[in-house]
Amino acid sequence: MTNKKAVDLLNKNDLIVITGAGGFIAGALVKYFKDQGFTRIRAIDKKPLGQWYQRTPGVESLCMNLSEKNNCIRAVEGAVEVYNLAADMGGMGFIENFRVECLRSILINTHMIESSYRAGAGRYFFSSSACAYNTTLQEDTNVQALKESDAYPAMAERGYGWEKLMSEMFCEEYWAEREMKTFIARFHNVYGPYGTWDGGREKAPAAMCRKVIEAQDTGKHEIVIWGDGRQTRSFMYIDDCVEGIDMIMHCEELIATPINLGSDRLVSINELVSIVEKIAGVTLKRHYDPDAPRGVAGRNSDNTFIKQVLNWEPATPLEEGMEKTYHWIGQQYVARKAGKRTVS
Ligand code: NAD
Repeated sequence: MTNKKAVDLLNKNDLIVITGAGGFIAGALVKYFKDQGFTRIRAIDKKPLGQWYQRTPGVESLCMNLSEKNNCIRAVEGAVEVYNLAADMGGMGFIENFRVECLRSILINTHMIESSYRAGAGRYFFSSSACAYNTTLQEDTNVQALKESDAYPAMAERGYGWEKLMSEMFCEEYWAEREMKTFIARFHNVYGPYGTWDGGREKAPAAMCRKVIEAQDTGKHEIVIWGDGRQTRSFMYIDDCVEGIDMIMHCEELIATPINLGSDRLVSINELVSIVEKIAGVTLKRHYDPDAPRGVAGRNSDNTFIKQVLNWEPATPLEEGMEKTYHWIGQQYVARKAGKRTVS
């Protein structure tokens, strides 16, 4: 079995629309398709162009708020494929404190999917999240990995998770009732260069790299860890994520079928800190903040289904991905200190 990818099914001048392109994952996806020779890519984000994390030359880059219906109609004009990754989101610190903002992302998908349908787009991708899973299954740090059927009966993460679940439902019904090919990946934590690393929206891997860098820079050899550090997660490197998106989007078996896209290596936040310490060559005194947002106790991806359909799963070793991420954040940190513009 060979997995199909965009290069196998599209013409190089077919229009690919990617939303959320000023952010982390969609920014990497734009570059991925550009590197493969696609000549017509339309990248969209509500952030002003100067604030985009990555700008790929030769790509039509537009600043538009996709919560507005008319902007969505304009965004997908002529699109052959649409990848909707725009969302108001962040790490635990953001999604626990800004549930209304997270819920309001429903406007983006609602208008984007309808506009894509009306424009006759051939395929539509929605980036869902492991936060759509039933939270009662995630109360133990030694968690059973989550399989796709574990989203129902539903008890998603408040705010962010419910928005994802409801938007998944839109994708499923646009296929069932209107025969538009939709694809849904439930991402588990994604990390890597060009991701948010400071400012409140960053996730654990980037936050740990930054804290270790700060500790070295200030000479205060201490680190504050949210919760007791025993909460567990799995982390997927960005290159695996974009390749997975491409394969999921072009697999007929996966039409309107949510699928996990994540690593299945479970690590505790304490272990994650140890990995970063090893990369940096330091050992820090750990302080724990029990009042900080910590999210569910444990969460992991069950990759049985993706291995069965695609014969593939994200495989970049955490140590290797974290090393690249650590060095990139180090460069960002130095650049910011020198007064230069940085991603976060
Ligand atoms: P990100 O915050 O870096 O990128 C999202 C982008 O969407 C931002 O640049 C933001 O400005 C843009 N956006 C928000 N509202 C918009 C609007 N109304 N109109 C246009 N653009 C808008 O996040 P990311 O990590 O790249 O995540 C991409 C997608 O993947 C999101 O849907 C997110 O929920 C999902 N996801 C990410 C992770 C992860 O670990 N990063 C995990 C699960 C799911």
